[in-house]
Amino acid sequence: MNEKEVVDIEQKYMANVYSKRPLVITRGKGALVWDINGKEYIDCMGAYGVCIVGHCHPKVVAAIQRQAETLISCHGSLYNDTRSELLEKIAKISPKGLDRSFLSNSGTEAVEAAIKLARKSTGKQEIIAFMGAFHGKTMGALSATWDRKYRSPYEPLVPGFKHVPYGDSGKVRETITDGTAAVLVEPIQGEGGIKLPPENFLRELREICNEKKILLICDEVQTGFGRTGKLFAFEHSGILPDIVCLAKSIAGGVPFGVTVARDDIMAAFKVGDHSSTFGGNPLACAAASAAIDVVLEENLPERAATLGKYFKDRLDVLKGKYKIVREVRGLGLMIGMEFRFDVFNIILGSIKRGVIILDAGRNILRFLPPLVISREQIDIVVDVLDVVIGEEESAKLRGQPTN
Ligand SMILES: *Cc1c(COP(=O)(O)O)cnc(C)c1O
Repeated sequence: MNEKEVVDIEQKYMANVYSKRPLVITRGKGALVWDINGKEYIDCMGAYGVCIVGHCHPKVVAAIQRQAETLISCHGSLYNDTRSELLEKIAKISPKGLDRSFLSNSGTEAVEAAIKLARKSTGKQEIIAFMGAFHGKTMGALSATWDRKYRSPYEPLVPGFKHVPYGDSGKVRETITDGTAAVLVEPIQGEGGIKLPPENFLRELREICNEKKILLICDEVQTGFGRTGKLFAFEHSGILPDIVCLAKSIAGGVPFGVTVARDDIMAAFKVGDHSSTFGGNPLACAAASAAIDVVLEENLPERAATLGKYFKDRLDVLKGKYKIVREVRGLGLMIGMEFRFDVFNIILGSIKRGVIILDAGRNILRFLPPLVISREQIDIVVDVLDVVIGEEESAKLRGQPTN
């Protein structure tokens, strides 16, 4: 198939729910991907933050191959060696006390399980979430997601969700009632535009939750596994959540979701209370097990911290140089660059020059590169942006005034 055939078929047969870039990707390695014509790109999208260990990491590939030849499917009602190995690994890398996992296949499922678990274990119904939050798009997770454009066509959603301003722990305290089961929070808002909360926010939430005896759920689907410079982003605050949602990067690119909880909380789930046919299948478990090994062996959280600082400093220089850049912010290799206008032209211009970047809202560029990206590759990305932003700025100055 050539480029046009691939595009035509997807346009014709795939549900039209994604904002498509004009790009057919057929191969990947580390922080690089290639299109169908053989052109190389540095991938700062990382499949939406999935590719922490890089595309097709040899250890993940080998683990998948080995498991595919041994056993692909094994329902959770039977025991399996690969699954048990993974469960032990997750318990080991999770903070003390967070020992028990429900295994699923995606971020939204990890959140669904957390919502159900919070309700079941507390006997209460309300969940406090935040303005700007993104927790997924199935009906339960969507009820915790903030953005009106995702929500309004599907109302009525699940009742009992309240949204308060992100970073405002005082508002959380005011909103808690006798019926509140949990607070659900992203340590850094990803889809919401790489928003970092005030320094003490998570600590204050932890204190409030302790005081009011409600659960603190951290959605680490985007921030987890080293992305922000620590294995889990909540570690920056030195707190311990009661439930953690993981997905995106946990299995080296293979679909996977995990809801990790304290033993006594997960005990509320009895046989039949929740399940997933594919959850914990050996193929995905083998991939996750290998990906976790790679994250630890290659010290990827530390690498994200060092390279993330370097990347952000270089982007800050561009901010100083161009008036159309409003702000650069982030932690580790989770970085946002906010502009004074729509960034789609910058995304397209970067693609032309061999760099794939993600957006977060209409005016924010989002960088979620594989943590194995090199300093030299970051240099190339910044140099490309320097050119593209420069062109865009002069076009704006010539044309309509920037807002
Ligand atoms: C991506 C994301 C989800 C949803 O994950 P899916 O695998 O797309 O269902 C949930 N929460 C956060 C914080 C995310 O970034």
